[in-house]
Amino acid sequence: MGELMASIVEMVDNYGRYRRDVLNLQASENFLCSHVKMALGTDLGGRYSHVMPDGRNAYGGTEMIENIFNETERNIKTLYGSKFAEIRPLGGHIAAEISLLSTIQKNDTIMAISEENGGYTGYMENYLPNMLGFKTEFIPYSEEKQEIDYDSFEKKATEIKPKAVVLGQSFFVKHYDLGRIREICDKTGSKLLYDGSHVMGLVAGKKFQPDALKYSDILFGSTHKTFFGPQGGIVLTNNEELAEKINENVVWKTMDNYHPNRIAALGIAAQDLITFGESYAGWIVSNTYTLARTLNDSGIAVKYAPWYSESHQIILSKDNFQKYGDFKTISKRLENNRIIADTEGRLGTAEITRIGLTDMVTLGEVVSDAIKGKDVRSRITEVLRNSSIKFCR
Ligand SMILES: *Cc1c(COP(=O)(O)O)cnc(C)c1O
Repeated sequence: MGELMASIVEMVDNYGRYRRDVLNLQASENFLCSHVKMALGTDLGGRYSHVMPDGRNAYGGTEMIENIFNETERNIKTLYGSKFAEIRPLGGHIAAEISLLSTIQKNDTIMAISEENGGYTGYMENYLPNMLGFKTEFIPYSEEKQEIDYDSFEKKATEIKPKAVVLGQSFFVKHYDLGRIREICDKTGSKLLYDGSHVMGLVAGKKFQPDALKYSDILFGSTHKTFFGPQGGIVLTNNEELAEKINENVVWKTMDNYHPNRIAALGIAAQDLITFGESYAGWIVSNTYTLARTLNDSGIAVKYAPWYSESHQIILSKDNFQKYGDFKTISKRLENNRIIADTEGRLGTAEITRIGLTDMVTLGEVVSDAIKGKDVRSRITEVLRNSSIKFCR
């Protein structure tokens, strides 16, 4: 067995070939431009650079790395119009930890949207709350409308006076009334944190919750879902006092080395978003709507008709289970047809938008037929043949 197994180098090679022949509909992922991948694969991936509080770098040979870091930080600040940007977090989850450590103490209570309503599992009792010693109370939420129940939220927040309110969801199809939430937080003395992990690229492109940073004390999230990659996280604020705390909660607390190759790749991707973000995000929103409508019209039940989604996500309904099997079965059937989707009932349009697909009626029919059990592999080959990479300089 050992002898027959390909070397890891061959396996990686095969994987690259496999990805060229499949269509990716995973909402948590995005396509990497070749110049972003180039930066990831450089010598920087083996280096350290750490500027100490007194300004001295703890490592040598770091001048160029510091310049790359500063340029990336500048690009992120330009992209979001933020005064401060923490670009080192290794992922959205680490960015969440850093943001919470900077705003709450042990035994404090926060409010967040429950997992049942699409909230992030990390804020549920067993995870960050147990690890960091805080408590999560749920924000009243209407699943059907995909909206916070603002009146009930105001009442509950007034009683609890949470130290922080953390918005953002992993199943995320509708923006919030942030003006209203800000007012409530001001009354209850709560910091307002916005976990934009899924939608950072759309926020940058001003097509989903463009007011996220205007109303929140901290906007943070992943750099690889709707953001152009690489995998990582960022924390943004306009508040100097918070920026200092955020800075203090990175090195030796939530992480050490920030992976300089990743920071270089992030700076390049941010530059692409500065150039193409608005057009990209506009395409995402229209692609999502048309794909959702086409699927729903063809008999695949999509949630929240007739508006479906304001983001890159399409949420399939459990009403499909009887006819087409559960989400795991549907995902497997799609995978056998070279269409990659998660096993949670989400479809995402970030990557198909990056490869320039705009005919969502044809694509919707192909995906629908695959869910219904038809063999669509040659039609996927055709779709991929007509694709061309977009939004890379
Ligand atoms: C994906 C996600 C995270 C975690 O992000 P990583 O980059 O995978 O660490 C945090 N919060 C929300 C809402 C998410 O969807």
